[in-house]
Amino acid sequence: MSRSCVTCHEDKPMSEFGISNRYDDGVSKTCKSCVNGRGKRYYAANSKEVNHRVTLYRRLNADALKNVPDVEPDPSDLLSGDFEDQFVHMDDDEFPPESETY
Ligand SMILES: [Zn+2]
Repeated sequence: MSRSCVTCHEDKPMSEFGISNRYDDGVSKTCKSCVNGRGKRYYAANSKEVNHRVTLYRRLNADALKNVPDVEPDPSDLLSGDFEDQFVHMDDDEFPPESETY
């Protein structure tokens, strides 16, 4: 049993066609190799658009990274000793004995 692919018009065995809920018989009318080629063709035809999106995405991430230093403590706060005290407290905190608390 075979069917003709609506994209490449080649007769191929049913195993070359993927499953699709869009059709009554549950089998895609486009062969697997044509379906796999879609992404590559889309990129080839829209490489500028795709690259633009990637650049935009990276630019947005770069902006997010730029905001990270704003979250870090002000150097003057470090000089005040407040942060140093916090770190000392953290170091002095005793961890509960292993396994006994569980
Ligand atoms: Zn095909």
